[in-house]
Amino acid sequence: MIETHDLSKHFGSFQAVDGVTLSVKPGKILALLGQNGAGKTTTVRMLTALLFPTRGWAKVNGFDVFKQPAQVRASVGVLTEQHGIYVRMTGGEYLNFFGEVYQLDSAARKSRIDYLMDYFGLSEAINQRVGEYSKGMRQKLALARALIHEPPVLLLDEPTSAMDPESAKLVHDEIGRLKSSQRTIIICTHNLVEAEQLADSIAIIYRGKILITGSLDELKQQVLGPIEYEVLMSKPWQPQGLNLPKGVTLNGIKGSRLRFHVERPQELNPILLHQLTKSNAPVVTFQEVPQSLEQVYLKVMADAQAGEVINTHEPAITQEVDLL
Ligand code: ATP
Repeated sequence: MIETHDLSKHFGSFQAVDGVTLSVKPGKILALLGQNGAGKTTTVRMLTALLFPTRGWAKVNGFDVFKQPAQVRASVGVLTEQHGIYVRMTGGEYLNFFGEVYQLDSAARKSRIDYLMDYFGLSEAINQRVGEYSKGMRQKLALARALIHEPPVLLLDEPTSAMDPESAKLVHDEIGRLKSSQRTIIICTHNLVEAEQLADSIAIIYRGKILITGSLDELKQQVLGPIEYEVLMSKPWQPQGLNLPKGVTLNGIKGSRLRFHVERPQELNPILLHQLTKSNAPVVTFQEVPQSLEQVYLKVMADAQAGEVINTHEPAITQEVDLL
């Protein structure tokens, strides 16, 4: 479980994270989306007790990031943008080192390393120096490091960046498996298709503030309005005399296509279809117009940018600690 309330971080007078309140339950995935510099990594760093909040609180696996940082670090598997990969070690040595840090005994370390190297297709590179790994191989190794101690909480910053599509699928499958074994997961990603596929809930952060949060369906409804349905006719058709039920509005006509907004599709779609048939409409197909997370995201960002007061403060560079 991850819970935050009013979580905030200032760097000097610059507010990198501002009043973030979130809750992610075991077995659920939250996707944290936002532009470069929006505050995602800073939020993740606070949740791993690498950075202390300047305001608010956060609990990770029941531990307070302020009062119990060691327990928090033991509970999380973290994949950051800069992995801190130790290039002179071999892949096997690297994972073994982190297995020791997390106090796994040698049998457990061996079995986890074998499993993870095999899973990510790195077995042949186990004795190769990490400095010789490709970008995607390093990313997989960093992910294996995050998973080595089977943590209950995973914080994954761009988990599939630099990966080929096959490897990205492997990672998605692994994240799905971790979710079904009741892990609590936050993913920061710029890949909206990935977020759409994996996340149970989505939060969009802008200049340190959460603009909107909810399930994909809730966000679509809230941001894009009622679901739209498109009716394709066999020829151009004018809906004169068409009796629309309350809750259905005609949203546009383009040639042989008519679009309707339907507030309660389960109840109103059968009535709409009945009315169309009664009016002798030459209906060929009737289907939902797909709405994507990308549309939601772009609309939320456009609205935020239209209404913003630009913050001109330059961030002051502040000392950071690295995990290990
Ligand atoms: P990206 O998508 O590019 O990874 P992000 O959403 O993860 O971006 P953060 O890394 O959290 O963004 O940065 C949020 C803001 O805080 C940025 O303006 C960044 O410059 C600033 N910032 C982050 N770390 C520090 C630091 N140690 N000292 C000063 N400012 C910082």
